Amino acid sequence: MSFDTLGLAPALTRAVTDAGYARPTDVQQRAIPPALEGRDLRVASSTGSGKTASFVLPALQRVVAARADPAGARATGRIGGPRVLVLAPTRELAQQVAKATSIYGRHVPGLRVATVVGGVPYAAQLKALRGPLDVLIATPGRLIDHVQGGKCVLDDVELLVLDEADRMLDLGFIDDIRFIAGCTPKARQTVMVSATFAGHVGRLANELLRDPLAIDVASHTDTHADIEQRLHWADHGAHKDALLDHLLAGREVEQALVFTSTQRDADELADRLAGIGHRVASLHGGMPQGRRNRVLDGLRRGHLRVLVATDVAARGIDVPTISHVINYGLPMKAEDYVHRIGRTGRAGRSGLAVTLAEARDAGMIHRIQRFTTQPIPVATLPGLEPKRATPTLRSGPGGRPQGHGPARGGARTGGPRRAGGGDGRFDDRRHAPRHDARREPRQPFADGPRRAPAFGRGAGGTRRPAPTRRG
Ligand code: AMP
Repeated sequence: MSFDTLGLAPALTRAVTDAGYARPTDVQQRAIPPALEGRDLRVASSTGSGKTASFVLPALQRVVAARADPAGARATGRIGGPRVLVLAPTRELAQQVAKATSIYGRHVPGLRVATVVGGVPYAAQLKALRGPLDVLIATPGRLIDHVQGGKCVLDDVELLVLDEADRMLDLGFIDDIRFIAGCTPKARQTVMVSATFAGHVGRLANELLRDPLAIDVASHTDTHADIEQRLHWADHGAHKDALLDHLLAGREVEQALVFTSTQRDADELADRLAGIGHRVASLHGGMPQGRRNRVLDGLRRGHLRVLVATDVAARGIDVPTISHVINYGLPMKAEDYVHRIGRTGRAGRSGLAVTLAEARDAGMIHRIQRFTTQPIPVATLPGLEPKRATPTLRSGPGGRPQGHGPARGGARTGGPRRAGGGDGRFDDRRHAPRHDARREPRQPFADGPRRAPAFGRGAGGTRRPAPTRRG
């Protein structure tokens, strides 16, 4: 199947050809035609599946149609508010969707797109919201500030997209989403994209969607076929550092995204890696948005080879040159593992996802394996094998015990290459016990600036308490 058969306007098929896409992905094939017909959709799709284009292209088709019929648009009494509203859980994802919109909309004459996210000054956003808009991409919290301040009117919204709806609900945005949906016309089209529609996401879908077409492209447990997974057991923190250093010294690492559990770990690890000569930076929700943008830009442009990040980077980052994802600290939730590793193996490339775990991480490894219904193959690096017996994950998928005993086969990366030099043998002197104070307790929302509760900011807004959120 080619993009020409989907019913898209020539301006859009030209743009996807420019982007180098030979054919639509599964989710695009299944979602674009009914979306163009105006149907509500509930799309269960895994990361890296091409889901963004599956809603951005139909959204842009509305803009193309309106450009072709300006008299029709005027007759409806539009006031210039956005025709399409996309809600995303994080700033990074919102910016990613905005980037995709400008790529797919490059041949749409005079396309007007605005992004409204938290953590950046209001002034530029207010300017963008003043003029007529085609597409508005927003995180819920900041959008509500603008709506309540009377700076943004959603009466013209024809298509509402909730991207990564499960994540938005995880972040406590459910009341915000209801509020925003209530500000848009009832007759709108609604597309909801989520890794899962179980539980409260499914209930929200029932509330917001009318006779939706359910498209289930990949279950939420799917990990990408192009991503090879590997698990290295470490005796302790110093051993984990040695494994990380070895992996990062590999020449096959084009760019690596290293995940930590906490913001402080991200900063400390980035400092240590910079100290041994890596082009590295950290990224987490405690940094001002401007700095986060510069770091991501440095990654995209290839100025950085290593990015050390918290789960703020687990979704939305789309840099095809990320060849390795390394879990230095484990995620809080098993599903975040799938999102993390989905940062590699993108756009048809293959990727390697390596998890470094200590014995105390066995419970989470077990939960991840149960969630993905597949074992993470255990590997060792020559000279860096664990000396202690490693945990046995008895009830792992398929019931196969794994991880017991030392040294099982070599890893793809071949012989030892240590950033710090040396003869490649593991040096026991580096096994100094790491003080656990490095692992600060995680707060449920430790990764985003906490907003003070807001009550009806600005004039004319509905008074309503804002739930705790980030974005
Ligand atoms: P997404 O799941 O929307 O984050 O997209 C994942 C990656 O797939 C992005 O790098 C897109 O540029 C790329 N992509 C989207 N659609 C296609 C396609 N039809 N062919 C090849 N790559 C695609």
